[in-house]
Amino acid sequence: MLITEILKKKRLGINLSKDEIDFIIKGILNRSIANYQAAAFLTSSCIHGLSNEETLALTFAMRDSGFKFDFSKYGKKVVDKHSTGGVGDKISLLLVPICMSFDVIVPMISGRGLGHTGGTVDKLESIIGFNIRPDKDEFYKLVEKNSAFMACQTDDIAPADKILYHLRDVTGNVESVGLITASILSKKLVEDLDVLVIDLKVGNGAFMQSMAEAEELAYSMGNVCKLAGVKCNIIFSSMDEPLGYKVGNWLEIEETIESLSGNSPPDIRELTVELASSMVHLSGLFNDRNEARKEVEKTWDSGLALKNFYKMIESQGGDLEKSKKIHSNVEKIDILADNDGYITQIDTLYTGISGIIAGAGRKTIEDRIDYSAGIIFYQKVGDKVSKNDLIAQVVGKDKYKITEAADLLKKLIIVGEEKPNKKPLIIKEIEF
Ligand code: URA
Repeated sequence: MLITEILKKKRLGINLSKDEIDFIIKGILNRSIANYQAAAFLTSSCIHGLSNEETLALTFAMRDSGFKFDFSKYGKKVVDKHSTGGVGDKISLLLVPICMSFDVIVPMISGRGLGHTGGTVDKLESIIGFNIRPDKDEFYKLVEKNSAFMACQTDDIAPADKILYHLRDVTGNVESVGLITASILSKKLVEDLDVLVIDLKVGNGAFMQSMAEAEELAYSMGNVCKLAGVKCNIIFSSMDEPLGYKVGNWLEIEETIESLSGNSPPDIRELTVELASSMVHLSGLFNDRNEARKEVEKTWDSGLALKNFYKMIESQGGDLEKSKKIHSNVEKIDILADNDGYITQIDTLYTGISGIIAGAGRKTIEDRIDYSAGIIFYQKVGDKVSKNDLIAQVVGKDKYKITEAADLLKKLIIVGEEKPNKKPLIIKEIEF
């Protein structure tokens, strides 16, 4: 096969065969295909889209480009969750310890912050000593000990995605339903999954701003999962305000511990229970979802999920006490209400950007994160406030950065006269 002929075909909008896609991925890995040729494939794929067959072929080729887990000897269902990304989204950090109470394996490979959204890997890295990159033996030891691990994509996991993801990022080829599907699922399918629950975020703080866009991605991911033999439930949830009260890496670890200790913001509780109950229900442990919900709530309320969280962090080398000391030494700027009224809106996209300005995320790939930095909200949309009430606080090590972030954040929180109608957090779900 000749790469230039394949590229020409895709540029003309003709679908590629599985063999042609396999040829491209192999060539990218063994470097017989240059980055500029790979970029041409990505651009044509963005312009013409990928058919279902092309998306499936690309997902499998990227999944098979590296190491794959095999958990068959444990005789348990293997489950995971993926979120399409939000602001204050720390739900994975609660789901893993909750699922550790059940007879399933949760081998969670997560990502870093992308655009204005936070990433689970960055949050875990705020814990001093936490090993986010176990080697192959360690992965299996963690599964034997905890039935779970939390890790990032290592060099061995879907390496073709690593190369293509970087190329998409630097060539303006991120927004393509087929490429996003293949990128997300190639990493998830490495995990030898039986069940994948997807939290598909919609709204102002999500990548998918409309239901139509979200549904297109849902059907694309759901169809690939089905053909891969993985049960998939897609739960659409609103990202029109940050989740919980805290946004930022260490702050979200703190809020996870507070939540699992019995002091959970209602939105975090609601979404976590829905996702966790779907994960254990689809694993076949319960006949109906309500029974699964009750058991999830029981493990949370009994304190077992909190104990599991501590066990998981300690097993991967994390030191929470040391982390707390380091992260509590921060500068703070208060944001007060200018007038009496109700919080009617918090612009979630720009809240994420404000967090990045404070130091909680990266503006460029080389940027160093301030893991202590972020935003603490004291009020949520719909809450009543009086003039000079504390609405939010921006925290971080760098006074200059948090001042700039606070100046932006102040403009994003709207206090109006009328109590707003709050939209439901969980919008709908589609099972594949
Ligand atoms: N997350 C990924 O891993 N890949 C994408 O393309 C988008 C989000």
